[in-house]
Amino acid sequence: MKTILVSGGAGFIGSHLTEKLLDEGNRVICMDNLVTGTEKNIQDFMDNKNYEFIKHDISQPIDLNEKVSEIYNLASPASPIDYQVIPIETLLAGSYGIKNLLDLTWKNKARILQSSTSEVYGDPLEHPQKESYWGNVNPIGLRSCYDESKRFAEAMMMAYHRVHDVDIRIVRIFNTFGPKMRPNDGRVIPTFVKQALGDKPITVFGEGDQTRSFCYVDDNVRGLMALMASNYTNPVNIGNPAEITILELAEKMVELCGSKSEIVHNPLPKDDPTRRKPDISLAKQQLGWEPKVDWVDGLKKTIDWFKENT
Ligand code: UDP
Repeated sequence: MKTILVSGGAGFIGSHLTEKLLDEGNRVICMDNLVTGTEKNIQDFMDNKNYEFIKHDISQPIDLNEKVSEIYNLASPASPIDYQVIPIETLLAGSYGIKNLLDLTWKNKARILQSSTSEVYGDPLEHPQKESYWGNVNPIGLRSCYDESKRFAEAMMMAYHRVHDVDIRIVRIFNTFGPKMRPNDGRVIPTFVKQALGDKPITVFGEGDQTRSFCYVDDNVRGLMALMASNYTNPVNIGNPAEITILELAEKMVELCGSKSEIVHNPLPKDDPTRRKPDISLAKQQLGWEPKVDWVDGLKKTIDWFKENT
């Protein structure tokens, strides 16, 4: 049995990852300050003797009273709406937070996986995005608190690896969706599901010709665990390369929900990336990983969950 720290374990991806790690017989310590994570996401684990919840902000010093062998860091606001409301906390999670976790990893002679993001590519000039692309980020834009904190965290991971030989893994997560997303989280899929189920207008920003590539959360978690188990220390993209426009997503949502919603167009937020699609050749080659769940099937499961839980 491994003892694994999941920081951000009460969040969307963190809570799905926890479920798999517990299923495999590990002990999981969840550290979360519940700023964007929720108690509801972890209520099913609370009675599990192999699970412990610690309410703590990773940007404050971390002291655990037991050794851990693996750390998955998923502690950061990830929705543009969330991180633009708390930009300073977001920058601290990616700076002090990652430093505190790296010190803990070093002290424990553990292995750490940092969840980075496709946002390190900014509004990409290269398409699809390969890990070798350095990105096109506005350092003072509305998204910079997130993008730059994640870029800084990658740099800090590499520095600890180079200087102290800390065992690191870096995953660049592309748009991910599924059950347990907060209905009011502001991201496009929970927003559209809620609107469609309530027969409310579907708010497409701009013309809706911007693209994203949506990965179902089970595929994402499988990718994270495969990377942790591998011996690859450079960043790896994990996402579904099936690229769609936001307008296509809105139309599919109306169809799948059998909704009476009309599609309306609201202004496009500043610095909203125009296109995004992962090149996943590296994940295929290094991890033997690729997504298995088609985005439409994933949407159906997500809609069902929202119907029952929100
Ligand atoms: N979006 C939209 N309507 C909404 C919320 C989001 O059209 O109500 C668009 C947003 O402008 C972006 C895309 O959907 O182009 C994905 O947004 P999200 O916030 O989910 O994540 P991002 O990929 O931008 O970080």
